Amino acid sequence: MTTRSETAYISAGANLGDRRRNLEHGVASLREAGVLLKKHSRFFETEPVGFREQPWFLNMAFEIETVLPAEGLLDLCQAVELAMGRTRTFPGAPRLLDLDILFYGNCVIETERLVIPHPRVAERRFVLEPLAKIAPGYMHPVLRQTIASLLASCRDTSIVRPYQSGDDSV
Ligand code: ATP
Ligand code: CA
Ligand code: CA
Repeated sequence: MTTRSETAYISAGANLGDRRRNLEHGVASLREAGVLLKKHSRFFETEPVGFREQPWFLNMAFEIETVLPAEGLLDLCQAVELAMGRTRTFPGAPRLLDLDILFYGNCVIETERLVIPHPRVAERRFVLEPLAKIAPGYMHPVLRQTIASLLASCRDTSIVRPYQSGDDSV
């Protein structure tokens, strides 16, 4: 029997501790769990939106291939966040690591703990900008627009700028 793998997109963010290290560690942990990293964006430094009185974020997006079902991928992402030491205080609070599943194939999922596509993709420049670097032509399965087109019409004016790190490997 062969197990079908699915392509998924994840948005990762960190604004506490060594932000870059946290993102790298998050990616490494997913890979150790068998997730195949296909593509990743560079790091972007982004202004906090919503709760603004907190440090700026480092954000990136990546494309993976996994045999895990969507719920299993969420379990893994949450386990990696927890292992990193993330605690949940209030919505939008600063965090060591945040891993959001943006898309899982072309699936549309709506359960109590998992909504895919991620409901706030189109309104967040800090998600769209990195994602557009690796998947500009990906078609949002509900909005029926590509990532490039969602970015072009995104009204979020918060700052998203390339992070000058010299080395963008993860
Ligand atoms: P936002 O979802 O607006 O980016 P957040 O990332 O700060 O907010 P969290 O506290 O990390 O929110 O997660 C809250 C809950 O969101 C999680 O417990 C998880 O069950 C749920 N969730 C629903 N859909 C997704 C998804 N696509 N990816 C990750 N978590 C999701
Ligand atoms: Ca998030
Ligand atoms: Ca999250």
